[in-house]
Amino acid sequence: MSDTIAAIATGSALTAIGIIRLSGERAIEITNRVFSAQNGIAMTDCEDRRLVYGKACNSRGELLDYCLCTVSRAPSSYTGEDTAELQCHGSPVVLRAILNSLFDAGARQAAAGEFTKRAFLNGRMDLTQAEAVTDLIHAETEEMAKNAAGQLGGSICRKTDAVYDSLKAISAHYHAVLDYPDEDIDPFELAEYSATLRHAEQSLEMLLQTFERGRLMQAGISTVILGRPNVGKSSLLNALLGYERAIVTNIPGTTRDTISERVNLGGVLLRLIDTAGIRDTADPLECMGVERSLAAISEAELALVLVDSSQDLCEEDFEIIKSAETVRHLIVVETKIDLPEADGARSDFGLGADSVVRVSSMTGEGLSTLGEAVSLIFSSKEDVSQGEILTNARHADAVSRALGAIRLSREAMDLMHTPDIVLSEAERAMSALGELTGRTVRDDITSEIFSRFCVGK
Ligand code: GDP
Repeated sequence: MSDTIAAIATGSALTAIGIIRLSGERAIEITNRVFSAQNGIAMTDCEDRRLVYGKACNSRGELLDYCLCTVSRAPSSYTGEDTAELQCHGSPVVLRAILNSLFDAGARQAAAGEFTKRAFLNGRMDLTQAEAVTDLIHAETEEMAKNAAGQLGGSICRKTDAVYDSLKAISAHYHAVLDYPDEDIDPFELAEYSATLRHAEQSLEMLLQTFERGRLMQAGISTVILGRPNVGKSSLLNALLGYERAIVTNIPGTTRDTISERVNLGGVLLRLIDTAGIRDTADPLECMGVERSLAAISEAELALVLVDSSQDLCEEDFEIIKSAETVRHLIVVETKIDLPEADGARSDFGLGADSVVRVSSMTGEGLSTLGEAVSLIFSSKEDVSQGEILTNARHADAVSRALGAIRLSREAMDLMHTPDIVLSEAERAMSALGELTGRTVRDDITSEIFSRFCVGK
């Protein structure tokens, strides 16, 4: 038996429509105490998934809002329990008043992620799918959203379940022969399963290989903005942040002298680091800044090297582009193109760069071309909507342990060890794979995963 939880699912900001959801044994009965349909039919008698117009009132019968209501009964609902949803006007005051009335009628406040946790516990989704829910909500690029949507559809468990089932078949055969010696079961020949183990190994290897890309996709491409003082580094950073401000967040813990921001540029998530200038200096504070800049360069995947198009190139520009030689990808950005161009030749500057782009942070000209240049380097060439890119470190860790155990199992087989040794490793692999989907995961880990969700999801 489950108590009935309720929460505002649409956050605390003022919106056109706000949704309150309930789940649990009394969800429909409690909703019926607060909401009355205009057609006079009680929600307890209303059919599933029909949208009904009516009004919500508090326990004293005072009108709170006109809204739409829908119910879904167990087991065919998101959580697998009886659920109800109220679509109200999105004022935080109205929503809070309706929620309080639902509490008065017997519901309690849902904890973070509690709806999805119930869906998981009731077998409506596995753990990788539940985690995809929060990945989808927090996706910062279309690519991340597509991959998360694919994982919500069960792409990870489809791969790992196939491996799990093939290992289970070996184990089941071995134990059947051992436990029922008198039955007419085919004798257990370990060598017959060599191909199964090899196939399992290959399949997990391929999955694990996707994590490098997934990690970058999730964390953002570490990008340094380099250039001599006044070339326009901060202006470019600000222009890019303003460019798609809605999906920009500060990364906490950045230092005073290197600013780091996440920005979606050309559909690719970049972690932009505006470094303090790199130049010889005696000032100890500036020295620290330079050291940090050099460290940022050594870790960067992409360098944007800025040169001022309104001024002739100088020695310092060449030194800076040299300092970026170790970075895997380089884009030369000519800045301030709204100003008259300097006469000096610059054709050989940035010869080794992936591309040269001309921008004005002042007018915004060229920023979309910069986005295209980034996209050309980093956008996935393959289709991510299948959700087959591992992005979650917990998943990668479980797959890696499963792969390690399968390799040991194969080694034991090659060394002609007894079946029980080979199988104990295969079973360790199954246990690691079970953690992925939640079959064998510990309760505290599950709780930790769901605590990262939003309330109402
Ligand atoms: P930083 O020292 O490299 O970070 O350079 P800033 O971003 O602080 O810019 C230095 C100066 O150049 C400031 O006065 C900016 O207003 C100016 N500036 C930067 N970008 C542009 C641009 O695209 N067009 C024009 N006309 N001025 C710019």
